[in-house]
Amino acid sequence: MSLTMSRGQAYIHRLNDDRNVWLDGERVSIPHHPAFQGTLQTIERLFNLADEPETRDTVAFWDEQTAGYVHRAFQLPLSPNDIQRRAGAFRLWADRTHGVMSRLSDYARSRLTGWYATRHDMAIYDPYYADKLAAYYQEAKRKDAFLTIVQRDPQINRSLPVGQDEDAMLRVVKTNAEGIFLRGAKMVATAAPYADDIVVYPVQRIPADRPELAHMVIVPVSSPGLHLVCRESFAAKTPDPSHPLSAHYDEMDAILFFDDVLVPWERVLIHNNPQALWQIRSNAASSSLAYHQSIIRLHAKLEFITAVTSAVANEIGVDSFLNVQEQLGEMISQMQTIEGLIIASEAQAKSDAHGNWLPSFQFIETARNLGSRYYPRAVEILKTIAAGGLIQIPSGNFDRNEPLRPLLDKYLGGTTMQALEKIRLFQLAWDITGSPLGARHDLYERFYAGDPTRNRANQYVQYDKETLKKKVEPWLNIHL
Ligand SMILES: Cc1cc2nc3c(=O)[nH]c(=O)nc-3n(C[C@H](O)[C@H](O)[C@H](O)COP(=O)(O)OP(=O)(O)OC[C@H]3O[C@@H](n4cnc5c(N)ncnc54)[C@H](O)[C@@H]3O)c2cc1C
Repeated sequence: MSLTMSRGQAYIHRLNDDRNVWLDGERVSIPHHPAFQGTLQTIERLFNLADEPETRDTVAFWDEQTAGYVHRAFQLPLSPNDIQRRAGAFRLWADRTHGVMSRLSDYARSRLTGWYATRHDMAIYDPYYADKLAAYYQEAKRKDAFLTIVQRDPQINRSLPVGQDEDAMLRVVKTNAEGIFLRGAKMVATAAPYADDIVVYPVQRIPADRPELAHMVIVPVSSPGLHLVCRESFAAKTPDPSHPLSAHYDEMDAILFFDDVLVPWERVLIHNNPQALWQIRSNAASSSLAYHQSIIRLHAKLEFITAVTSAVANEIGVDSFLNVQEQLGEMISQMQTIEGLIIASEAQAKSDAHGNWLPSFQFIETARNLGSRYYPRAVEILKTIAAGGLIQIPSGNFDRNEPLRPLLDKYLGGTTMQALEKIRLFQLAWDITGSPLGARHDLYERFYAGDPTRNRANQYVQYDKETLKKKVEPWLNIHL
C-alpha cells in the first residue's frame, strides 16, 4: 500500500484493473462510473476505520504475521474475548451502514478464517489444501482483500439431478501445467464488481461420478475470460437525496460468466474431489464465524427499520392506536429475539479440537432462519403503518425559492417535524419498502443464505431428536 494513500484509497486504486464488469450492456470502470461512486465512498470510509485512532482497535487487530493492522474478521478466535472482539468489529461496520450492506467482505473473510483455522482437518481428503489455503489467507490479510463468495449455478432447469444439465454447472474443461480452465456461470455474486477476489464452489452435493464439477477456487475478479454482468444499478447517476440508501449502499449483484477462465494451481483449493468439497460445505468453524457476522448485521438492520417505523408512526400521530402499538411491539420482539440469540451463541461458545472458540451454531442458525421471515415481516409492518404517506412524497428538491414551498410547509409537516424533515423521513421509508433497493433487500434477506424452506427443514433434519422422543416415551406405556 502506498504511504500517501489511505487504506480505502488503496483499495479503490486496485480496482483500476482489467476486470470485465458489464452494466447496461456496456463494459464499465468501477472507479470511474457514476453508478458505483456512492458505494465506493462508503467502502472507503469503512476500510479507513481500521486506521483511525478512535476505531482502529474495534475494527482491527495487530497481526504479527503480516506486521500490520488487519480487520478482525481475519482474527482467529482463540478465547471467548476474541469472539466479542470480532463481534465489536462486525457491529461497528453494520451500524455505520444500518445493516444494509451485507457482503462488505467481513462475511467472506470470516469464512476464510474458519477454513484456515481448521485447514489441517482436510489433510485426509486433500494433501495440498492446507498449504494453499494458508498461503491465500496470509495474502488476503496482507492486501486487505475485498472478498465475496458465490456458490449457485444458474436457474436453467432445477428439476434435473445435479450434474445432468451440462450447461448449468461450472466445470473444468481443460487442465495444464499452469492450472485449470473453468467454463459455466454462477449466481448471485453480491458485491463481486467491488471485490478483489471471489471464492467459488458449488453448494450442492456433487455425485462421486462427476468429479469435474467438484472444485473450490479463488478467482481474481480481473481474470481474463471472467465476465461480471450487473443487474440494474439502484444508485442515481447524480447525487439523489430522495433515495438516501440507494445512493450510498448499493452493493450490486452480478451473474458471473466463466469463458474458459484459467485458475492457477495455487488458487485451486480443491480439484475433482466431491468428498473434500462436502467437508468444506459442512465446515462448522467457517459457518459459525461467517453467520455470526450475518446475524449481527441482521440485528442492526432490524433496529434501523424499527427506528424508521417508530418515527413514521409518531409523525403521523398513529402510535397511540392499539393495533399500531401491537405491530411496533412485534418489531421490537423480532429485534430482541435476534439480539438474544446473538448473546446465547456467544455465551454458549465452545472450543474446538484446535483451540478455536466458536459461537454456538445452533443459536446462529435459528437467528438466520428466523431472519428470512423477520425482515420481510418488518417491511410489511412499515408499509402497513406508513400507508398512503409512502407514495405521496413530492418528487424533486424543495429549496426556499420553490413556488410550492409554502403549501408543502403547510400540508406536509408532521406531529413534530417540519415538512422538509418529514419528507426526508418518508423518502427513507420508501427506500426501505418500495424502491428497487427496498425490493432487493426483501429478497436478499429471504434467500441470501440459500433456500429458506430447505434451511428450515434442514434444521429439523439435523436436530438431535432423541431428546424429544424421550419426552414422549413415558406417556406411551401408561396403562389406564
Ligand atoms: C439478492 C440476493 C443476493 C445473493 N447473494 C449471494 C451471494 O453473494 N453468494 C451466494 O453464494 N449466494 C447468494 N444469494 C443466494 C443464492 O444465490 C440463491 O438465491 C439461493 O441459494 C437460492 O437459490 P436459487 O435462487 O437458485 O433458487 P432455486 O434453488 O432455484 O429455488 C427456486 C424455488 O424453487 C424451490 N426449489 C428449488 N429446488 C428445490 C428442491 N430441490 N426441493 C424443494 N424446493 C426446491 C425453492 O424452494 C424456491 O422456492 C443471493 C440471493 C439473493 C436473492
